[in-house]
Amino acid sequence: MSQLSHLECNRRRIISLLVSISLLLGCIPLAVLSNSQQAGSVTIAVSSLNVRDGAGQTHKVIAQVKGQENYPIVQMKDNWIQILLPNGQKGWVASWHVEINQPATPAAYVSPTIETLNIRAGPSTSFPVVGQMAKSESFPRLDAEGDWIKIRLKDGSIGWTAGWLTKEVPSPALIQPAPNPSSQAQATVKSATLNVRSGPGTHESAVGQVYAGDSLTILEQQGDWIRIQKDNLQGWVASWLVTMGSTPSPPSPSVESEKPTIRILNPGTNLRSGPGTSFDVVKIAKEGENYAVLGVEGDWFRIQTAPNQVGYVAGWIVSAQGVANVERKGNESLLKGRTILVDPGHGGSDSGAIGPHLGTLEKVVNLQVSHLLSRKLKAAGATVIMTREDDRKVSLQERVDSSIRRQVDAFISIHHNTSENYRVNGVITYFYSNGDDRELANSIQKEVVKRTGSTDLNARYGNYFVLRENPQLAVLCELGFLTNYQEEVIMKTKEFQEQAAEGVFQGIVKYFAQKK
Ligand SMILES: [Zn+2]
Repeated sequence: MSQLSHLECNRRRIISLLVSISLLLGCIPLAVLSNSQQAGSVTIAVSSLNVRDGAGQTHKVIAQVKGQENYPIVQMKDNWIQILLPNGQKGWVASWHVEINQPATPAAYVSPTIETLNIRAGPSTSFPVVGQMAKSESFPRLDAEGDWIKIRLKDGSIGWTAGWLTKEVPSPALIQPAPNPSSQAQATVKSATLNVRSGPGTHESAVGQVYAGDSLTILEQQGDWIRIQKDNLQGWVASWLVTMGSTPSPPSPSVESEKPTIRILNPGTNLRSGPGTSFDVVKIAKEGENYAVLGVEGDWFRIQTAPNQVGYVAGWIVSAQGVANVERKGNESLLKGRTILVDPGHGGSDSGAIGPHLGTLEKVVNLQVSHLLSRKLKAAGATVIMTREDDRKVSLQERVDSSIRRQVDAFISIHHNTSENYRVNGVITYFYSNGDDRELANSIQKEVVKRTGSTDLNARYGNYFVLRENPQLAVLCELGFLTNYQEEVIMKTKEFQEQAAEGVFQGIVKYFAQKK
């Protein structure tokens, strides 16, 4: 009897527990939904991930989540994201182990970018044409499949059209008279190159690029993204890479694209009264500024710093347009008769690191810099061998073998780095042995840092196969971190690659100069 009532009691407890669980399950998704529309959600990208009670590795683990699971984002701090767990608890996960899903955007309208655009019955050109839309018309966008978007037609029926031939437009209900363009908010581009995207997020496709110092008209803002217009280019850019609200900056001293110009690559670049570092600084130039080139003196450019003012800037720290980069004197003979092996890391099925923000493949940027370096070495009289000249897989042993077979004077491996901490950035040159390897690494490290303006993480000992197993003089350059957003953006640019290659080149030259 007492047994029975005990069982009965237990059963009741279980039922009430089940009821509260179903209540929880029933109402939390509602809370989740409203939240996720605010800030988006994350998908766990590793098989299992610790959830902590604070934004950092040192905080206590309070739960674990599994790969492919989705959680709404509550807030973000540094590289950590606070998520909402199904039991209503909140906890922090490392952003580099998750994929961030953008919040669903409210119903958008689209207009064709061409005069007339076919509307089809399905999402490809193999479906029959069911109608046409004119450039002046706009339709609500309902869904997307690949590059195709689903729209609702005037009669309420559904159709599909080529997404790349449409642009997003404000809902007709929201259209207001266009403000006077001169009173529109402006933004100025901060980074060397900035992708303009079809939507507000780094996963959206790039539709064009704008450059440091460009002035953009702000059309609308959504979270950290702004929709901008620059001449005929319209799209979304990351607001943290522009200076907002500023009036358009005064035009740079030189604007005509036909005339030779140089572009300042590093913030706080000294412009001097003469062609050498012993001359006074007459102006400090900002990154992205352009100046007309009046002449070249040694390896310095004579430039127009103001309407009636002339100054000089060191040729190796700027990028030249419409004029050859400065000539270098005295270095040619140093590399004559030397064989340098340039080793672009990874290749083929081995992509190396992948930039988490823009999807940059390490093997691609490694090869781009390696080609630039190889060209500079050849121009300076060296015999250059590359372990790969295109996108193919080469084993580590093969790389070392060609170094030994050709008895090269130096083996230079080119890589780009990654870190779990997205804030880590900078250059590291690795050596395996003390002595010559270390000296070469120090020399390259110094020159790369000087030219790129990147953080100096110093030359370091590195136990890499291509260094350890290599009897020849060998170093491995890590030119920056693909996991750092700013560096990933900049490392894709021709300017950065040019300066990085120039730094490695100068480091090699200076090393051999002191060995002479
Ligand atoms: Zn690598």
